[in-house]
Amino acid sequence: MTERRNLLRCESCGTELDELDPRTSCPKCGGLLSLEIGMPSERGAALRALFDDRLSVAARAERSDIGASGVWRFRELVLPHIADKNLVTQWEGNTPLLWRESVAHWASVPELLLKHEGHNPTGSFKDRGMTVAVSQAVRIGASAVSCASTGNTSASLAAYAPLAGIPAIVLVPAGQVALGKLAQTLAYGARTLMVRGDFDDCLRLARESSERLGVYLANSINPFRIAGQTTIVLELLQQLGWHAPDWIVLPAGNLGNTAAFGAALRMASATGLIDSSPRLAAVQAEGAAPFARSFRSGFAERNAVRAETVATAIKIGDPASYERGVRAIRETDGVVIEVSDAEILEAKAVIDASGVGCEPASAASVAGARRLAKDGTISRGDRVVAVLTGHILKDPGILLDYHKDAGRPMANTPIEIDAEISAVERVLKDAVSTSASR
Ligand SMILES: *Cc1c(COP(=O)(O)O)cnc(C)c1O
Ligand SMILES: [Zn+2]
Repeated sequence: MTERRNLLRCESCGTELDELDPRTSCPKCGGLLSLEIGMPSERGAALRALFDDRLSVAARAERSDIGASGVWRFRELVLPHIADKNLVTQWEGNTPLLWRESVAHWASVPELLLKHEGHNPTGSFKDRGMTVAVSQAVRIGASAVSCASTGNTSASLAAYAPLAGIPAIVLVPAGQVALGKLAQTLAYGARTLMVRGDFDDCLRLARESSERLGVYLANSINPFRIAGQTTIVLELLQQLGWHAPDWIVLPAGNLGNTAAFGAALRMASATGLIDSSPRLAAVQAEGAAPFARSFRSGFAERNAVRAETVATAIKIGDPASYERGVRAIRETDGVVIEVSDAEILEAKAVIDASGVGCEPASAASVAGARRLAKDGTISRGDRVVAVLTGHILKDPGILLDYHKDAGRPMANTPIEIDAEISAVERVLKDAVSTSASR
């Protein structure tokens, strides 16, 4: 390792801050900060070997080795120099890369793999960013942490903060958070503020309270969150034997993850982990697609909308990481598209019925892959990884609404019966004959 320290730099005006500075935006111009780390001394094959060795040690060892975390395994590219004693980890990451014939077929992408981030400790990729942000909070001695959230960030922060012994305050839009996420947040013990407003209002309040009240902000504008989320890409590249796919497709809301994916690919190329970069495809919901609109104008203008979609995790009208997102799309020759709620729900039903399952926002990636295959942007034979960002149980309300509505194309309506064996027999006969006729 080089001994150069990490530093924080404003992406707008270039102001530098010490890496232990608790501020999460530029004190001069309000711009976003990025975390700049020294390049590791290992490159290419040596760096791949370092990461691969940790993986094989972790596979054998009990979960006490730091390499058993799918984030800290890549620590040289995440946050070098942090002391082990500051790490707050629940062995996040290590999520599977899955192939399901039914999903690949539906999307018309034969080589479609699903990177299932719903397998993280609290059920979403947010844990990868949160382990780093909360470790940083410990490192700088933060007295409290907070975030605004559509639900998953709050669930994740609520789970990690107690491990660090730091109180957490979360702001969520009242009545707009999926049931599983709200339940988790309460159960893990965060002080939960239900704001009469939308996500964008919550974020404004969170930023203000961090500036005025000195609370450490754990939103995705926090550069340490982004650093942790780069490991989604590093890990999937490792799972593919460091042979990069042609495309990585992800749902895009606040654009923290889009930014993280861009940063990961920049690093993976610069350090020689891979020799060709995948293209990124960011997918938004039609009713919350300001970034897709900007893309269509060649990023000539930044847009904001009042967001409306069933996919609450990407129901964001004014993405905070806009500039970082633009950079990620430009650098990877990427695309930004939008899909309808109906397409999202159809994709979700196919993913769910394959036994994999995911929350609504996650299904936008598969719906997006299908769009891109249909319009020829994704070519037949392209290797595509679609990221499933959250677990199926995050949003049980939407599942029950869908399956109790017999009018839905893939509805699996429950059958109420009398407590008699003959009723069970009738259903069984029907099930066997339907599956035989397939
Ligand atoms: C946070 C989240 C997203 C959106 O990620 P951004 O970084 O806000 O673009 C998508 N899906 C799920 C499940 C999420 O929790
Ligand atoms: Zn600045």
